[in-house]
Amino acid sequence: MISGISNFSGIDIPSDDVLTNCMHCGLCLPVCPTYAITGREKSSPRGRIRLIKSVAEGTLEMTDGFVDEMNFCLDCQACETACPAGVQYGSLVEAARNQIRIHGKESSSTSLLKWIFLHNVVSKKYLLKLVARILGIYQSSGMERLMKHSYVFKKLAPKLSKIQELSPRIDGRFFDDIYPEIVKPTGKPRYRVGFLSGCIMNVAFAKINEDTIKVLQHHDCEIIIPKDQVCCGSLQAHNGDFDIARTLAKKNIDVFLRSDIDVLVMNSAGCGALMKEYGHYLLDDADYADKAIIFSSKVKDISEFLYDIGLKKPEKEYKHRVSYHDACHLVHAQKISKQPRELIKSIPGIDYVELNEASWCCGSAGTYNVVRYDDSMKILDRKMENVKAAEAEYIVANNPGCLTQIAHGCTNAHVQTKVVHLATLLRDVYEL
Ligand code: SF4
Ligand code: SF4
Repeated sequence: MISGISNFSGIDIPSDDVLTNCMHCGLCLPVCPTYAITGREKSSPRGRIRLIKSVAEGTLEMTDGFVDEMNFCLDCQACETACPAGVQYGSLVEAARNQIRIHGKESSSTSLLKWIFLHNVVSKKYLLKLVARILGIYQSSGMERLMKHSYVFKKLAPKLSKIQELSPRIDGRFFDDIYPEIVKPTGKPRYRVGFLSGCIMNVAFAKINEDTIKVLQHHDCEIIIPKDQVCCGSLQAHNGDFDIARTLAKKNIDVFLRSDIDVLVMNSAGCGALMKEYGHYLLDDADYADKAIIFSSKVKDISEFLYDIGLKKPEKEYKHRVSYHDACHLVHAQKISKQPRELIKSIPGIDYVELNEASWCCGSAGTYNVVRYDDSMKILDRKMENVKAAEAEYIVANNPGCLTQIAHGCTNAHVQTKVVHLATLLRDVYEL
């Protein structure tokens, strides 16, 4: 049993309001990917809310089945967008995961893996870089290719063999080793912009970070990239480890507020969503509550920022057929869908095609496609049907997880569509 509804959330959510707000109308069911693949009430948002309420009230034990349902959820928050009662489902499921962790209800292997990778490796930059170096050697030395074609590996660890294909490609040089703390704009400076180099973005998506910097420079931004910034804490928070997420949040608040920035530009939807929530996570912290609200008010996705300041007119037409996939933590968590579409459509020459079910999750969901590979692939199948139907040359997505997942789907389905970040597309448009 969990100790009472009001203590359940552990963060600022007025849990009893959130729980009783649910009218059981079922409007969230048709948008839920896990309900779509199972048809089971308990795997729907409404069903999970009932489960959480029962555990919180003590009428249901925190069983393995309960734990499995909380982990089966993608935390995509499509149900929040659909809910007429404003139920904050995302906060609720994260709070449930936090309680599962606190009560030691995860399997020992899962909790050990989370402790190693989320609590330690991802949270500590030097450790992440060390692990990334080792993984990079494995990938570039030919060992990975050998394993990929190894009959023994496929037989002994078939799932691991498939998951390996989803692991991010480690960059030869990490982003924060290339760029200095201050990057000047190409023209006259008009905006002082902070930039989060990220954890995984820093070691495996350095090119996207670089594309972002180039586009910001082109738009008169002086970019501040503090060396002592840390991981945003989103992977940890979404997996219910609020303690480490709060520690990381406080560090980033100190680092970026000291830098006197106008805006903190994000190029990863998951990170941006969490950083906009720092105020909620630190609501009860006397020293940081106010600072966190100020900090969160400065956070903007790159599409949001460029839409606000206005995109510069490209010199040439960009004659390509382009579509857009909504990352869940951009469309559902941050409610950003118009800005990236308008930016893409405003580029002369682009033939924009709307992706059917663009805001349906691709199945990436942080670490979900690794820990629940089979479920994740079922969800990806639906996305791929729509990707194929769009017949676009490029699918744009503003989140590294979505980029990796949809690219994986394209490779497996022999689809020629390229999956790119908005910053990469814009860099190409401006020939920067
Ligand atoms: S967050 Fe997504 S997967 Fe989870 S219940 Fe809501 S819609 Fe379903
Ligand atoms: S849409 Fe909202 S109120 Fe209706 S069942 Fe889902 S969570 Fe409850």
